[in-house]
Amino acid sequence: MFHAEINRTLTAAVNLMNTAEGLHSAKPSPDEITSIESLRKFVAAQDPELKWPSSGLGRSQVDGIIELRDTLREIWSAAPIAGGRPVEQINELLDGVSTKLVRTDETSTTPEYRAAPIPVSGQLVDVVTAAVGDALKFLLVNDETSRMRTCRGDDCDAAIIDLTRNRSKLFCDFGNCANRAHVRAYRARQAALREAGKQALKESETGDKLAKPSAAEKAAELDEPTSESGVAAKQFRSAMRDELMDQRDTKGGKKKKKKKNKK
Ligand SMILES: [Zn+2]
Repeated sequence: MFHAEINRTLTAAVNLMNTAEGLHSAKPSPDEITSIESLRKFVAAQDPELKWPSSGLGRSQVDGIIELRDTLREIWSAAPIAGGRPVEQINELLDGVSTKLVRTDETSTTPEYRAAPIPVSGQLVDVVTAAVGDALKFLLVNDETSRMRTCRGDDCDAAIIDLTRNRSKLFCDFGNCANRAHVRAYRARQAALREAGKQALKESETGDKLAKPSAAEKAAELDEPTSESGVAAKQFRSAMRDELMDQRDTKGGKKKKKKKNKK
């Protein structure tokens, strides 16, 4: 959707947020970053093009990444971002981060450049903070923070990033959130239809009882119509009566003529 670098950074940011303890597609998910080893495992599982360092990690890096994860979650849950605290938080992530120009595509014949973040140090927390801060800045500057979402599935708090052109991603990829939501929506529609049917039936029954006029009322209405439709009906009835009378006369005349011819 965006530059490849922004896409992979946002994807990795979502992966990082989803390592926190929570519910993924109705299943409890434990905290996945609790040790240096688990942090190394997480980094190794991300896109190698990110070039996030996985060596020389210590406890301070684990704590720093967990803190960053909490901040990211806070910013993410405030999306779409209109201002206030989330913007301050993004600025804090970018504190001390400068930029340099890099080619977006090394193989392209026409060079295109973008401003890539320079972290304050080569340590994992600083590298990730600079990359993620830069990606969030990109979303904010381009008014695309509504793409920062939480899965719409029931019992699911997974963070998602919508990188689709038509902004259609609403569910995570952990389980069957999309499918569960469709089944639920289908059942809700069926229940609503059944309920509407019952209600309509009830209304027609009680409506009949309430609205049914007595025979005397009907006769009175026919004779002295009070409503517009009643007046129209009376006019129609008398018009029909006149027509019938005319027809009868004509037929009678014809019959008489025929009889005359036979004689
Ligand atoms: Zn989900």
